[in-house]
Amino acid sequence: MIGDPDAQFIGRRRALIEKIREQGILDLELLQLFDEVPRHRFLPEGVWNRAYEDAPVPIGYRQTASQPSLQARYLEVLAPTRDDTVLEIGTGSGYLTALLSRRADRVYSVERVRELSVRARAALDELEIRNVACMVGDGTIGWRKYAPFDVIVVSAAAPKVPQAYIDQLADGGRMLIPVGTRDSQRLMLIRKEGFAVTEEPLDDVTFVPLLGKFAFTEDDG
Ligand code: SAH
Repeated sequence: MIGDPDAQFIGRRRALIEKIREQGILDLELLQLFDEVPRHRFLPEGVWNRAYEDAPVPIGYRQTASQPSLQARYLEVLAPTRDDTVLEIGTGSGYLTALLSRRADRVYSVERVRELSVRARAALDELEIRNVACMVGDGTIGWRKYAPFDVIVVSAAAPKVPQAYIDQLADGGRMLIPVGTRDSQRLMLIRKEGFAVTEEPLDDVTFVPLLGKFAFTEDDG
């Protein structure tokens, strides 16, 4: 479309995909997904010039949109399919929500900062993404109403895995959650098979803290 304000970002988006590929993500369908969702639309206009850097970007309220190559890693490990119901904790900008929505059946996304949830919802609506439900609240208790979930994606760091997530994970389900201190964490892959729950440590990561009843306290957060 002539005069399309989004057109200027197409080249930069391709360059970002190249950077994600350089980080070892080789699945073409997954890389294609990053071409399908315009990241800038999920960020405040003041940081649109940074939307296609492979870096976390501030989104206000002391929060950041996560680094795209790390989100690619999440999607690679979790490999959501069109039959999967996904629980996302920490909607933030809504960018990962949008990526997930294109590979899952439904996405249920919880965010504690109302303004961020509202903004994410608006961006999702503008892109006519209809298979996402957003809720404002403390995501450390999960979202029991729609459990069990085939995939649980936690985008904030917890001191330990909240029990609600294990309870709300489906048989055959998988979850990624950064576990550690406020300053540094290990990404943990949790799998549930029948009554067995396994934990596998993956990459070292740094996320903003998960603040709530079953994670870090909100006082100084
Ligand atoms: N994937 C998002 C990440 C945002 S950062 C993105 O790329 O934009 C993590 C988000 O988790 C922040 O928006 C923060 O407000 C939210 N958060 C922290 N504690 C939470 C809790 N207990 N429940 C729900 N959301 C929480």
